Amino acid sequence: MRASCLSASSGIAIKPRRTFRLLIPLVAVLLAGGCVRQAPRRDVLFQVSTINALLAGVYDGDLTVGELKQHGDLGIGTLEAVDGEMVVLAGKAWLIRADGHAYRLADSDRTPFAAVTFFEPDATVQLNETADLAGLQSALDAQLPNKNLFYAVRIDGEFAYAKTRSVPRQSKPYPPLAEVAKTQPVFEFRDVNGTLVGFRCPDFVEGVNVPGWHLHFLTAARTAGGHLLDCRVNHAEAKIDETPEFALRLPLDDSFARADLATKRAQELNKVEK
Ligand code: ZN
Repeated sequence: MRASCLSASSGIAIKPRRTFRLLIPLVAVLLAGGCVRQAPRRDVLFQVSTINALLAGVYDGDLTVGELKQHGDLGIGTLEAVDGEMVVLAGKAWLIRADGHAYRLADSDRTPFAAVTFFEPDATVQLNETADLAGLQSALDAQLPNKNLFYAVRIDGEFAYAKTRSVPRQSKPYPPLAEVAKTQPVFEFRDVNGTLVGFRCPDFVEGVNVPGWHLHFLTAARTAGGHLLDCRVNHAEAKIDETPEFALRLPLDDSFARADLATKRAQELNKVEK
């Protein structure tokens, strides 16, 4: 939900005279500052590292899951050594490993790349019989007023079909993600209840996050899932949270410091994430 802090600085209609002329802007600034302090900044997409660092093989866990959850209760990511696909939902974190099973993560587990937000939906959309992932994405896109903002989404429902993948844990020296993806196990679900979690990022994040939709799936039993490759929705309810702020936490370790982040990796990303 977007914070409403406008009233403190925008409601001044009187014409200031003499000394009041200086005072009023000062009061407005103080009031606006007070508003920011009172309302926690919850409309922020908080991200660890960059997608191009992950593509380049920067898989060292920079942040613990416990620290990540201080910045949001819904999101997606991966684990240290790309040991699977992460889902954060209602403040709990799961990892879908290469065996296809979902495991609850401990706060001490570490992530090299993840994004979370405090999920406070602004809109609810009923979805019926979308044909495939592209159909789902356009049904969601039709509801979004501003494609230059971030959106978090949670979709609960009945899926006629879902296709996911995970990635196998790597050991050092880490290969690039495009190499890892060549060995990715793929899972298919039919007539399954579950939850999709993820984000729609604006096109201008290229290199930093994934432009467009990036969704992870978790079954209703919370036992399986993965990075979503395709799906057919029977009936589902999508909740959407417009997220106008973005916070990027960059890793301080050597592997990030040495990573080649000048190379464009849009083609690699397309192979890995789609
Ligand atoms: Zn993913």
